Amino acid sequence: MQDAAFDADREAVIGRAVEAGIVRILAPGYDLTSSQAAVALAEAHPELIDAAVGVHPHFSAAPTPAEWDELAVLAADPRVVAVGEIGLDFHRDLSSREAQRAAFERQLAMAASVRKPVLIHSRDAHDEVRTALLAWKGPGRGTLRGVLHCFSGDATLAQDLAAGGYLISFALPVTFSSARGPRAAAAALPGGSFLVETDSPWLAPGGGDQRNEPTTALRVAAELARLRGTSPDAIASGVAAAYRLLVGVSASTG
Ligand SMILES: [Zn+2]
Repeated sequence: MQDAAFDADREAVIGRAVEAGIVRILAPGYDLTSSQAAVALAEAHPELIDAAVGVHPHFSAAPTPAEWDELAVLAADPRVVAVGEIGLDFHRDLSSREAQRAAFERQLAMAASVRKPVLIHSRDAHDEVRTALLAWKGPGRGTLRGVLHCFSGDATLAQDLAAGGYLISFALPVTFSSARGPRAAAAALPGGSFLVETDSPWLAPGGGDQRNEPTTALRVAAELARLRGTSPDAIASGVAAAYRLLVGVSASTG
């Protein structure tokens, strides 16, 4: 894939994002190789792109002990702003739940030890994810911050996590009238407690085989503005401020 046409195509996507007014993109990993690719992408575009590194629940059972060590070194790297995507997916169960829980806990601890936020994937596992994240707020465990991405829960879950200092991130499904929980959450959350995202390559606006690129996040912001009775610009500044707090001042200067 890493040929000249691919590179040109990627630069075109980045160009369209900048043209549309997007000022910061967080690119997560889902295994060691994609995490290294996210770091390389951020290094190539430090003015626009931040990298997160992590093992997605689908791949929880895959890393060798040496790969886990390598990921921990990468998580501590100053070029990396967050640990993710990590979490639990009991919808597809592509790794055993035992392996998912172990990888999730390992990476929560990894993020806490390097004092970086977590990017959380939760599918059909909301109660367990809520318990795990809020447990990190207890005495003696330090503090953990992070974001629950592509939010698919209800307003109560969103508010519980926001009260615990976590952000909620919305993707295109919040524009669907059937997404009652996420829409109610988006309307009720306090300002400064949410982000917008693409969840690319999934959830493309045109469906299945269409490309989902950063400009999709603008559609999400426009819908949040409608749901909250405010302007897209107000949503954008709230999201930018929340993102700066999430990743820390040093990563927010672009
Ligand atoms: Zn995800």
